[in-house]
Amino acid sequence: MRTSLTVEEALQTVLEHTRPLTEVEEVPLTEALGRVLARDLEALADHPDVDNTAVDGYAARAEDTAGASPENPVRLRWIGESPAGRPFPSRLGPGEAVSVYTGAPLPEGADAVVAVEDTERDGEFVVLYKPATPKDIRPKAQDLQKGRVYLKRGDVLTPGRVGLAAGMGHATLPVVRRPRVGILSTGDEVVEPGTPLPPGGVYNSNAYSVAALVREAGGEPVLLGKVDDTIPELKARLEGAGRLDLILTSGGVSMGDYDIVRHLLEQEGTIHFWKILQRPGGPPLFAEFAGTPLFGLPGNPVSAMVVFFLYGRPMLFKMLGRTDPPYRKVRAVADDFFKGAGKKVAFRRAVLRYDPGAPGGHRAASVDNQSSGVLRSMAFGNALVIVPPHAHVEAGEVVDVIPFGEVQSA
Ligand code: AMP
Ligand code: MG
Repeated sequence: MRTSLTVEEALQTVLEHTRPLTEVEEVPLTEALGRVLARDLEALADHPDVDNTAVDGYAARAEDTAGASPENPVRLRWIGESPAGRPFPSRLGPGEAVSVYTGAPLPEGADAVVAVEDTERDGEFVVLYKPATPKDIRPKAQDLQKGRVYLKRGDVLTPGRVGLAAGMGHATLPVVRRPRVGILSTGDEVVEPGTPLPPGGVYNSNAYSVAALVREAGGEPVLLGKVDDTIPELKARLEGAGRLDLILTSGGVSMGDYDIVRHLLEQEGTIHFWKILQRPGGPPLFAEFAGTPLFGLPGNPVSAMVVFFLYGRPMLFKMLGRTDPPYRKVRAVADDFFKGAGKKVAFRRAVLRYDPGAPGGHRAASVDNQSSGVLRSMAFGNALVIVPPHAHVEAGEVVDVIPFGEVQSA
């Protein structure tokens, strides 16, 4: 069993043991938000499918309206109208105008439009105070060309992309199956929220924070409840869990006698590694149990979240074939002192704000308590300041920061 890996070694190892999912689901557009495309998607039609007008006004021939101005208006004969979706049934000839409305096909014979505010109607005539021009015509296929690929396998479906897929003519979209991620909490002291807290008890926050992180990363959390600190109970619950793509346990991986996750996997699984040189989140374990990858998250609430974010989230991205990075790093000026952790990398929680005047464009202020048992730091902080090994960060230094929530404005 490898032990005490660097952050980079740990990430590399978990990704080596992660396979992209191959099952594809066809989902309706209304269910597609946040899903990952499983295939390239091409436009089923041109958009617009014909030249159309971007303004309400009149279509005409540019050459008939040249030089029109308030002093020298041009009069054209009005011959009818073309609302959106209803092409003008005949051809427009010299000296003629047709009313058009935004999105309406340009009548045959017309090559220009003039906005209604630059005109006046006079019975069967239209008076133009400006020339009709082609600039307000949206040419055929300006937005989308039939047969061209606009969305690629691995793209996450944002609201704009759901709209684009609909605009391309697709009613359903092929997406990668969501990875099923089992979440099992361990600990005699752990009780469910909503029940009375016995002396020495602690509410199970890990199952819910981690389930939320799983969902945010595109996975489907499967809550497996909690087990007391006994190996037979843990084993039975894992064996009864059904088909999963990843198992996450919380607690029971450090050095104590009750660290049952580690003991069970030593006996019955394959441990790829135990412990990462980082704080918080030093004791995680990465293993395989009955053919399923298992990540043993530490029990401390901050550690469980940080470890999932740094390693579990990239695993899910790989399973989903996502092409966007699982997290990013930005540079920021430290507003406060951030303590290092000796030979380990420290991920200190911070409130990250935009500041166009600061190096890197951001500032990072420390949360009030950096204990790995204080979950408020993950609820009100939005970023991890990276303190390299054998170092501290002094206020005013420029540091690497990993945002995990929305970055605030200065
Ligand atoms: P462990 O890793 O099992 O030694 O647990 C470390 C700390 O995390 C202990 O203080 C536990 O009470 C706490 N803890 C363990 N599991 C959970 C959980 N599911 N939710 C909240 N706190 C937990
Ligand atoms: Mg425990």
